[in-house]
Parts: sequence; structure tokens; C-alpha cells
Amino acid sequence: MRQSEMLVPTLREAPAEAEAVGHRLLLRSGMIRQLAAGIYSYLPLGRRVLLNVERIVREEMDRAGCQEVLLPIMQPAELWEESGRYTQYGPELMRLKDRHTREFALGPTHEEVVTALARDEVNSYRKLPFTLYQIGTKFRDERRPRFGLLRGREFIMKDAYSFAANWDELDRTYKAMNEAYCRILERCGLEYIRVEADAGTIGGQGETHEFMALADVGEDTIVTCKHCGYAANLEKAAFLPAESPLLADSEAGGRAEVLRIATPGVRTIAELCSFLDRKAEDMIKTLLYLADGQLVAALVRGDHELNDIALKQVLGAEELTLADDAAIAAHSSLTVGYIGPVGLGLRMVVDADVAAMKQAITGANEPDMHLSGVRPGVDFALDQVERIRFATEGDRCQSCGETLVFTKGIEVGHIFKLGTKYSDAMGASFLDHNGRQCAPVMGCYGIGVSRLMAAIAEQYATEDGIRWPASVAPYDVHLIAVSWKDEQQQKVVLELEQQLLDRGFRVLVDDRNERPGVKFKDAELIGLPIHIVVGRGAAESQVEVGSHMLAASGEMKRIDMTAQEAVRYVTEQLV
Ligand code: ATP
Ligand code: MG
Repeated sequence: MRQSEMLVPTLREAPAEAEAVGHRLLLRSGMIRQLAAGIYSYLPLGRRVLLNVERIVREEMDRAGCQEVLLPIMQPAELWEESGRYTQYGPELMRLKDRHTREFALGPTHEEVVTALARDEVNSYRKLPFTLYQIGTKFRDERRPRFGLLRGREFIMKDAYSFAANWDELDRTYKAMNEAYCRILERCGLEYIRVEADAGTIGGQGETHEFMALADVGEDTIVTCKHCGYAANLEKAAFLPAESPLLADSEAGGRAEVLRIATPGVRTIAELCSFLDRKAEDMIKTLLYLADGQLVAALVRGDHELNDIALKQVLGAEELTLADDAAIAAHSSLTVGYIGPVGLGLRMVVDADVAAMKQAITGANEPDMHLSGVRPGVDFALDQVERIRFATEGDRCQSCGETLVFTKGIEVGHIFKLGTKYSDAMGASFLDHNGRQCAPVMGCYGIGVSRLMAAIAEQYATEDGIRWPASVAPYDVHLIAVSWKDEQQQKVVLELEQQLLDRGFRVLVDDRNERPGVKFKDAELIGLPIHIVVGRGAAESQVEVGSHMLAASGEMKRIDMTAQEAVRYVTEQLV
């Protein structure tokens, strides 16, 4: 391909709003452009990267025995009503009406469509198991579209759905998909961790894992143990109970009574800490939630964060939201800012680390008052003690007792045992070998194709450009003529191009009438694996070969060689 004929609008500066380094470089190298928030065009170079990622995903899905389909993006609302998700999905679901005012949704994921297909077409165990997949556009009206392709509102996903006669069959497919995902991420050159995840909103009955590409911009916190290799999502991470906090001197004497302390205008834990000169770990935070409309109290230590996903599970609630001031004020015995467990009169879920406290400071359930010396289990009942807080860095691993460490990750893939949630809700069934009617056991498997591209950009970003791994780079070789007008140079470039094309390599020729400095800067930005610069040595068939693969540090290293040696070098490196 001739660069002079290609749309590669490189930029010296990235637009100010691009925060992530990979996003900035995708813009600067002319690979993508934003059309609206979270909606992007892929320009020729970007499209080639995306197609390479797609190819890797497709090859691994086919290898795992999955069948490719293409399902509609535009989906009737009735289908979503059958699964109950038309309302449940909330504002993230893009909705529209046709000319007859019939409602439709733009698919954020395709469980409904694929389950309806199985309901109509598969009715015998003889047709099971099978897995369908597709690569296509998804729509999610994300609250915060961010970091370019990382969190888009229109993006490319590979989604797969498996149907099995029983859980054993599903387990086998799940394992095969797990392996396929590992191979995809390895082939994309990504550094990643597979973590135990939480069933979350898709709502399944079985296990689920997420594949996290490591990157500072990642919005997910991964909890890992360097000692035993344990890795989980923050929402899911298991850990040993915290050490019980030391008591302040005044309380270590074991005073048996609860003291009332006037704390005018002091409402938050932080305010209370400075007002009383005490630590957050000596306090109990009493949080009020609406669980399916019922007011419930959840207690965690002042220095801990409540894990609302764990709380939701413990309560078995469909919907859980933090109670707003109005909901609290509607309850006559509650005082916003001063709520505590003593005499509260609500159902209370108590975190295990609160239950282990000897004494604590809490709200007094009256304005401007707190209580100190409150003993869990004595001054308020411990009817339901659960693990409802997030791990903190420094907590100990439940498997081996070593200290847990936090890392940031980008969720690039997600595999999920759905069970019969959708087949039950939508009435999909098949006859087993005894002629009994059963619901197929399903799994779903998503991988963000455009997000993968962004994650690679993030991990391979340098100051000057993205060093694309050869497996996804838009071209293999950048052939740069220092001066295209120089006949000798042009001749060597064209000969080299022909030889490389004959060997099956993908070649980008910089034939522009630009200054050499501009060409080199653009070549760095575009970041192809091997550069061949044809300059003054052309008459003697001498060229300069540059590659990031030459130096372990990933820096561009250049060496002089003959054109013939350059062809051999490319073959050695890339085949
Ligand atoms: P997140 O927690 O990041 O919103 P999710 O849990 O909603 O992700 P899934 O529903 O599991 O994501 O979707 C499968 C895959 O699709 C994800 O692992 C991710 O790679 C990709 N993906 C999800 N949302 C987006 C998005 N807004 N932009 C780009 N890719 C996305
Ligand atoms: Mg999401």
C-alpha cells in the first residue's frame, strides 16, 4: 500500500479530552476518530488492527468447535419483556420505535435472541450440545463512555452462547472456552490475569470468570496473592477476617456502659474521627439500603467499604439501592447522619469484622449524638453476621494467609455459566433420551474486540507511538524512502516491496514527498514491527533496518544491512 494514497491523518498533538495514553496514540496515529461520545470511526489503519484482532478471535472460536452466526442488532421489545430485562436493563439499553410505533432495543448482548432461536429450532437432546458465536456491533448507553474504545456506547464484541443437555456438558464447554480465551489473549500479546468474578447483573446460577488485561487505566480492581496465585475481582475476593482494632486506652479498662457523646453537626466518619480524635477502625458505619423496597441496615467498620454485591446476595434481593435521605426521613425513628445499631428496630446485616469488635463508636439514633463503648452482641443483637465488605490492600489471603495486593485491570473477556435462567424464562426446552422435557443449560462468553484493540494500545504504548505486536499490526513492514524523488531510492524500495509481497508480507510504503523527519515521526506513531529505511546507501543497495524487536527494552534499534539481508531479516523475525 502506498501511504500517499492512504487516509492516515496523523496528529502531532492529541485532543485534550483523551486521557488514556493508548487512546491518545490511536487518535494521533490516525487510526480512529470520534463521531459522538463513545462512538468511533475506524480509519484504514485502525480497521486493519481491528480485523486482525477479529481474525484471532474467530480462529480460536472455530478451533474450539463454535459455529459462527450473525444475529440482528435491532430486537423487538417483546423479546426483552419475556426475559424480564426490558425494564431491568435500565437506561443502558438503547431503545427506538419503528414507523408503527412498535418498540425495539439495540442489542447490548444477545441472550434473548439466541434463546428464542434455540426455543424454535432445538427440541431434542440429539442436537445438543452446541455453541453459537458472532462478531458484531453492540450498543450500550454507558453512563460514562471513557478512554476511547475502552468503554464505548457502540462497540464490537464477540459473543458466544452454549446450549447443553446438562451441567456436565456445560462444564466441558466452559473449559474449552476458557482455554480459547487464554489463547486469544496470548496471541494478542496481552499481559492478563483470569479472575473469579461475580454473577452480577447477567444473573446466572454458576461460576463466572473475567479476563483482565493489566493496565493503569483499568477500571477494575483485581485482588491477587503473589504467594499462592489467588486472583479475584474486588467484588468477589475472599479474605481472612481483619485483626480486631486495638482499643483506645480509655476503653481498654473494659467499661461496661454505653456513653452518650454530644457531636453537634458531626455526621460523617471522617468528621467524627477528627472531632473525637479517634480512628475510623474504632467506629461502626451503619448504612441503610432499600432491598426490594424494604429498609435494611448494613454495618461495616468505619475504615471498611461495604460490598453492595455481597450484600445483595446475602439478602437475596432483586434490587438493592442505597436509601436516600427522603426514604430515611420517612421512617420516624431514624435521624439522617446519626444512625446506629442500638435500638434501631430494622433488620441488620452485620459484617464479620464488626461482630469481632470489642467496643465501638456508633450513631445514637438522635440528632447530634453518638454512642461510645457499644459492644456488638451485647448492646445490639448479632442476628445476621456476614462478610459484606470489600477486601482492602493488606488483608490476608483466605487460601494461604499471605498479604493480598491490588492491581488495576481492563475487563476484556467474560465467561459465564448461565444455567437455565434464560431457557426457563423464555420457555426453551428439549426432550431428553427418556422423552422428558428439560430446559437447556446455557453458558455465555463475551470478549470485547474493540476493547481488546484499546487494551493492546494501552499495554504497548510508548511516548512516540504504539509498538503493535506483529500478530495485530496493520502491516508487517514500513518501507520508507527518505527521498521518493530519488530514482535510486525509489527503485530499491519498489524491488524490496515486490520481494516482501512475494513472500506474503503486508507492506506499507511511505512514498510521500515529506521531510524525512516527518516520515520517521509518523512511522514511530504507526508503530509497525519492522521499518526499512532506504536513503543515501541505495546506490550500493544498503538500507537501514529498524525494529523494536531488536532491543529487549522495546526501544527502536537500527542496523545497516543490504536489501537482500533485510528481506532475510524480515522473514526470520516474522515467520
Ligand atoms: P464492564 O464491567 O466493563 O461494563 P460488562 O461486565 O458490562 O463490562 P459484559 O456484559 O460481560 O461486560 O460484556 C462482555 C465484554 O464486552 C466485556 O468483557 C468487554 O470486553 C466488552 N464490553 C462491555 N462493555 C463495553 C463497552 N462499553 N465498550 C467496549 N467494550 C465493552
Ligand atoms: Mg457494563
